[in-house]
Amino acid sequence: AKECGRNNFQFYTEELSARNAQRMYLTNGLRQALDRNEFQLHYQPKLEARSGRVVGVEALIRWFPAGGGMISPAEFIPIAEESGLIIPIGDWVLATACKQAAGWRREGRDGFRVAVNLSAAQLKNRDVVQVVAQALRDADCPADALDLEITESMLMENPEKVSRTLQGLCDLGVRLSIDDFGTGYSSLNYLKSFPIHELKIDQTFIRDIPGEAGHASIVKAIIDLAHSMELIVVAEGVETAEQKAFLERERCDELQGYLFSKPLPAHQLGQLLDSGAIG
Ligand code: C2E
Ligand code: CA
Ligand code: CA
Ligand code: CA
Repeated sequence: AKECGRNNFQFYTEELSARNAQRMYLTNGLRQALDRNEFQLHYQPKLEARSGRVVGVEALIRWFPAGGGMISPAEFIPIAEESGLIIPIGDWVLATACKQAAGWRREGRDGFRVAVNLSAAQLKNRDVVQVVAQALRDADCPADALDLEITESMLMENPEKVSRTLQGLCDLGVRLSIDDFGTGYSSLNYLKSFPIHELKIDQTFIRDIPGEAGHASIVKAIIDLAHSMELIVVAEGVETAEQKAFLERERCDELQGYLFSKPLPAHQLGQLLDSGAIG
């Protein structure tokens, strides 16, 4: 038994150091990724459920390191957060998304919006309102072409401070969306006091509807809650016609997911929209 314990411990430390090595490797790569132009934004359409029209897109970062392949944001965003690199990377995302949004508006896509994910570290940065204002100015992008998505769990850490920041962003004319809603235990009292426009139902709840009764009732409850607060409600991760039918029946406002399109590079998304295949 003693030997067995030691082996487990050895295995555990080996696994830990492998993970540390991987993290160091990624951190070093991330440090140079901006200078080497290894990031791209891909854009996934959001459709208005009622009309089927594409009303905007969510910008999602992709990392193509020099050695080849693609590293998922789920893997490198947490590491960028730990190392502080999320601030320059986040600035790049905002600048790039604002330029693209301004371009699409100039091409005549009226009312078209681009949503950008803000990380916790970006939201906590005291200059975030200035940073967003500057990105809009530099890109000559109208504020109503930009949405900012922040996760539900970021709201409650310091609600008074977050509320002031969100008010500053709202005053610029951008819209605020609460991402991963249903997973973060936010207080409904506070939720009412934040200047938000939209709730995005977390995709873990969408995955098993309509079959899974528990999740179906959570989805219905979130839609009703959003509407009672006069918020738009969006479902992400919509993959099947059954999910779409359920969400339409329950009056979900907007839909996003592989059923309509994967996230695509800007020019491919433009072609998809122009082809009339969706929206
Ligand atoms: P998220 O904001 O919740 O984004 C939704 C994720 O679901 C994206 O993964 C998207 O590609 C994926 N998705 C969309 N439709 C479907 C579907 O029908 N089925 C399934 N299974 N998945 C779908 P992605 O692009 O890998 O991004 C993962 C997470 O990384 C994002 O989750 C977000 O938290 C973060 N992230 C991505 N881009 C950025 C960024 O520019 N800045 C920051 N701070 N975080 C980002
Ligand atoms: Ca998001
Ligand atoms: Ca989400
Ligand atoms: Ca997420």
